[in-house]
Amino acid sequence: MIASSLLSRTLLSRLPAFEPGSVWLAGAGPGDPGLLTLLAAKALGEADAIVHDALVGGDILEAANPDALLVDMGKRAGHPSPKQEAINARLVELAREGRRVLRLKGGDPFVFGRGGEECLALAEAEIPFRVVPGVTAGIGGLAYAGIPVTHRGFGTTATFVTGHDKTGGLPADLDWDVLARMPGALVFYMALGTIGTIAERLEAAGKPPMTPVAIVSSASTEAQSVIETNLAHCARDVVRLQAKRPAIVVVGEVVRLRALIGAWQQTTGQNPFPTAVSA
Ligand code: SAH
Repeated sequence: MIASSLLSRTLLSRLPAFEPGSVWLAGAGPGDPGLLTLLAAKALGEADAIVHDALVGGDILEAANPDALLVDMGKRAGHPSPKQEAINARLVELAREGRRVLRLKGGDPFVFGRGGEECLALAEAEIPFRVVPGVTAGIGGLAYAGIPVTHRGFGTTATFVTGHDKTGGLPADLDWDVLARMPGALVFYMALGTIGTIAERLEAAGKPPMTPVAIVSSASTEAQSVIETNLAHCARDVVRLQAKRPAIVVVGEVVRLRALIGAWQQTTGQNPFPTAVSA
């Protein structure tokens, strides 16, 4: 106990100062507060304003400085998310008011999170900012389901793909022949709505229909659920088993490791989140 508090105090004392008038653009990880980085935890405690997305869970925000202004920039039932320009403008405005502004995003801010766009806007407005990487759903979320994103026996690559672009549909520039031939896991973000087309395109490009697929919903939260299926049946199973958002979809042989890694963690009580829902 003493050792661990000394350790954290030593670590915390080495962290940079969160200066008034600056913005920290931080990832909150996929959900479990235990996956926050020390920098993100420090920023939560010290921020005067926190601008967050819908993906940032309530139990993380509960740890925030109680005096901080909370600005919710997430999608709200039926309403579209605020335009990126409006978010950028709000960040600039709050920083110019002299606040310590924490821009908190789910996962990692630079992985399909538009963090780059916000950095460009801040640089243009001459606002100092720091980027605090986070645990991305496509790695940490899979890990909480018992799936290692890479494994030496099962390939040499891990490919991150968005299933949803600015147009709201599957990106038109994906090269399905290349994706089908990648020797490792394909990890699709924002892909629940397009999983049928993804599976069709991959199969048409030669990926075997029995390639394992896992769909991990609300990874690393109490609501975590996992559907284990295959390319031929994943679209049907998403509907049949009512897969929930947010969900990460992984296609590849690494999914098979879940039977051992996920199940053993569950048996030994080392992963409190369910890993056992199967199609
Ligand atoms: N910056 C985030 C990704 C934002 S895009 C990151 O690095 O994780 C939003 C997508 O992320 C969701 O559609 C889903 O595919 C994925 N995602 C985020 N949190 C998740 C979670 N807890 N469980 C499953 N998928 C998640």
